[in-house]
Amino acid sequence: MGNTEVEVCDICLSMQDTKRLQVKRYRGQRYRNVCLPCISEKGLENIPEYNPTKLQEFVDEMEWDAIVPTILYDDNGKEYLGFANGQTNLLAKDKMRFIAEELLKTVELNGLAEFIENHNEKTYMIALYSRDPENTDKFLVPLDRLNIKRKQFKKNKVWGFTCGNCSTKISSKDGGEYFSISPSQIFNYGPTERACSEGCMKVIAKDIVMEWISDNDYHDDFDTDKLGRRITEHIKQA
Ligand SMILES: [Zn+2]
Ligand SMILES: [Zn+2]
Repeated sequence: MGNTEVEVCDICLSMQDTKRLQVKRYRGQRYRNVCLPCISEKGLENIPEYNPTKLQEFVDEMEWDAIVPTILYDDNGKEYLGFANGQTNLLAKDKMRFIAEELLKTVELNGLAEFIENHNEKTYMIALYSRDPENTDKFLVPLDRLNIKRKQFKKNKVWGFTCGNCSTKISSKDGGEYFSISPSQIFNYGPTERACSEGCMKVIAKDIVMEWISDNDYHDDFDTDKLGRRITEHIKQA
């Protein structure tokens, strides 16, 4: 029969003998309180009960609680580490001991520093870049932030530029279209460049992206094999 506790049933909302049934994630919870009548009425008898470890129980209780470091002083003014929550209540001694003991086990793990570094780097990348739909271990180069534009020469204004790739001198008198690229800050790249054609724009854009990948050591984060095709497609839509 398992453990029951008198709690509000999450289904019928009445105070009842309830069981904690395991759920994937329900409003931030890992379980729902369900009363015995609801369990038989909804046929939930086969859903396992939530049986957390001591550590999981602690995390469940604390995970929405801010833990802010604070300094406690003894009579001689010596400093000691304490923790306060968002309401500035100090964390109880038994909880401090539990945290200290568990953390000591954690810091002894092999490869912990590397694991934390990788995790945090990934978190940073997830915040900045979209996942690559063709390979979810990788991210998409934000090609839109290269600000590539297809432009038409205006006939009444005479000016020219040198193509940033093939060095051909292009004049507005020749008419037709040309391309410009003004990468945003994220690419840490200087002035606007201009290109005579889609092909030359592709070479310039790819150079900028490859330099950015190598400056930031992003080789494992972006799929460079697909870059050429993706830049071509991106320029076609410019
Ligand atoms: Zn119920
Ligand atoms: Zn060119």
